Amino acid sequence: MKKILIGTHNKGKFREIAYLISKKYVKISPFSLKIKSPKETGKSFNENSKLKANFFSRFVKFPVISDDSGLCIKALKNSPGIYSARLAKRKGSFFNAMKFILKKLKNKNNRDAFFICSLSFKVPNRKVITVKGKIRGKISHKILGKKGFGYDPIFIPNSYRITFGEMNKFKKIKMDHRFIAFKKLKKKIRTL
Ligand code: IMP
Repeated sequence: MKKILIGTHNKGKFREIAYLISKKYVKISPFSLKIKSPKETGKSFNENSKLKANFFSRFVKFPVISDDSGLCIKALKNSPGIYSARLAKRKGSFFNAMKFILKKLKNKNNRDAFFICSLSFKVPNRKVITVKGKIRGKISHKILGKKGFGYDPIFIPNSYRITFGEMNKFKKIKMDHRFIAFKKLKKKIRTL
């Protein structure tokens, strides 16, 4: 069977990306190969996802897919953005990071936000292919739901009344920023 490395140590992301890729592939994690993630030194989602795909590709002879994603909140000048994971680390947990965000938005009228995903795909000895997916929504007033991962319990996608944290996980996987990016990628490389 063909192999593909899903270049992330984030279990939530791994699960989502693995679900989207064809059953023809055995999905390998960097964890199982004892490869650590590189430092995210890029200044944009695209720079970071490319950097990850190029990095992981050095260790294997089969394709690599990796993403860089995050939550951008309009009233907070699109932060935490590329620092979404680092904010949770700094605050000690996602729960604390979400509490911090809700507090910051307390007196703001505008709760518009979007999740963004830059997805990169690399085949050995070929250039990286990168695409982007975005889903718009609003930040909830409370932390709601225990499904999903990361910032899911405070994100209400447009035209819904529940957060991603309350949504059936398969429904979320088939509509989120990663799915939108994945669809674009699949158009470019039909094998996935
Ligand atoms: P990075 O791409 O490894 O820098 O991490 C992105 C950060 O955004 C992580 O902390 C994720 O938990 C968060 N994030 C990305 N996508 C989602 C999502 O679909 N739901 C909730 N949080 C997400």
